[in-house]
Amino acid sequence: MTEYASEYRYGSKWNQNPDQLYRYMECKLCGAFELAAEDTVAVTCHECVIEMSEPPEFKNKKSSGRPSGWHFMKEFVDKDGNVFYRGVEQPKLKGKLTPTEIKKKIRYTKIQKQKYKNDAAIKVAALKKELKGLRWKKDKKLVNQQIKNYTKVMNGKITEAIISKLFS
Ligand SMILES: [Zn+2]
Repeated sequence: MTEYASEYRYGSKWNQNPDQLYRYMECKLCGAFELAAEDTVAVTCHECVIEMSEPPEFKNKKSSGRPSGWHFMKEFVDKDGNVFYRGVEQPKLKGKLTPTEIKKKIRYTKIQKQKYKNDAAIKVAALKKELKGLRWKKDKKLVNQQIKNYTKVMNGKITEAIISKLFS
């Protein structure tokens, strides 16, 4: 009746007996194998647990409403119209400039990252196939460039810039 895959592995950690088999089960969120008890039916790996318990970013940032690094910005205008030049308030300019647009940084969850990695792997395989059928150097160059980009994602380079370029 178990939904998740499990397997037995010989002990490999400092606190395990190398001659004994331990049951590992795939994490219900990310699929990484995690040590599980004999009767466990679902497990959440330690990394996913950490991820879930991380406080949402806005909790830390809400106090000032200013993005990190605002003191270093040449010009920063907060939502109340206070103007700062490299962190120094410019009272005479208050209310005269439009508030600086704060771009929210996208944080990808572990599951999203895994999905992008999988999608990238599929894409790379398809592109490699495509490459074989190509005759012209310039076409090959283009496909090779794409392969390079998707390979980066496959290897865990998951940034907003690369994701929006490749997956939208
Ligand atoms: Zn997990």
